[in-house]
Amino acid sequence: MKEKPSLALTLFLGSLSFLSADDPLPVSEAGRWTKEEINEQRPAVITPPGHTTQEKAGAPPSDAIIFFDGSDLSKWQGRGKGGEDAARWLVKDGYMEVVRGTGSIQTRDQVEGDCQWHLEWCTPAEVKGNSQGRGNSGVFLGGYPEVQVLDSFQNDTYPDGQASSLYKRSVALVNASRGPGQWQTYDIICLREKKGSDGKVIQPGSITVLHNGIVTQCFVEAGGKTPSGGLQLQDHGNPVRFRNIWCRKLVVPPVKAPGQ
Ligand code: MG
Repeated sequence: MKEKPSLALTLFLGSLSFLSADDPLPVSEAGRWTKEEINEQRPAVITPPGHTTQEKAGAPPSDAIIFFDGSDLSKWQGRGKGGEDAARWLVKDGYMEVVRGTGSIQTRDQVEGDCQWHLEWCTPAEVKGNSQGRGNSGVFLGGYPEVQVLDSFQNDTYPDGQASSLYKRSVALVNASRGPGQWQTYDIICLREKKGSDGKVIQPGSITVLHNGIVTQCFVEAGGKTPSGGLQLQDHGNPVRFRNIWCRKLVVPPVKAPGQ
């Protein structure tokens, strides 16, 4: 038998229904914030990304810059001499795939400042080769080391060459790889170097990587000195696939030491 809610609980729940977004916060909750500060610093509301499944990429968040939605490579270019040749990778069924020998490709546009990149990748279901020869590609973001893409599922190689390593710079904290033929995600947070008014560096650039939602690189100080950059995908000769590539600009104030 269901228990009836107590009178106190009923009154409390009832009182909540009268609160709306326009109501001022109760004094006890507002704390140190003035009304003006609350209005100035209230975080923007966005629609979060849709849930990605193996079959289907999720919808990007509402404030993302879309670089690949599965339809074409119009926002990409090859990296041949002059850097203006067309990207010649295969586009099929909502993904792009490395075509061996056509070269790495890069976004036509760059992104200024701090940002969050999202992309999904899949190494061939049919396993061929080993170590660095199995499902090798990579992600290059302006001024940062390569974020390695590799089939690292039961495929040993040197530690700073595995999936989600910063190639030959930083070993991944864990190996969060899914098996060959499965879609995997990278979320990469790039914080650019920040300087004070006197020109001195007050915060070094860093890169943070989440592989399949797991932190594998955490504020690693490697690059980020350039103020902007695009994204480059590597042709390492293996038919690795990519889909759902987007970027969000971030506004991240420098971290302050206590007392500053
Ligand atoms: Mg690579």
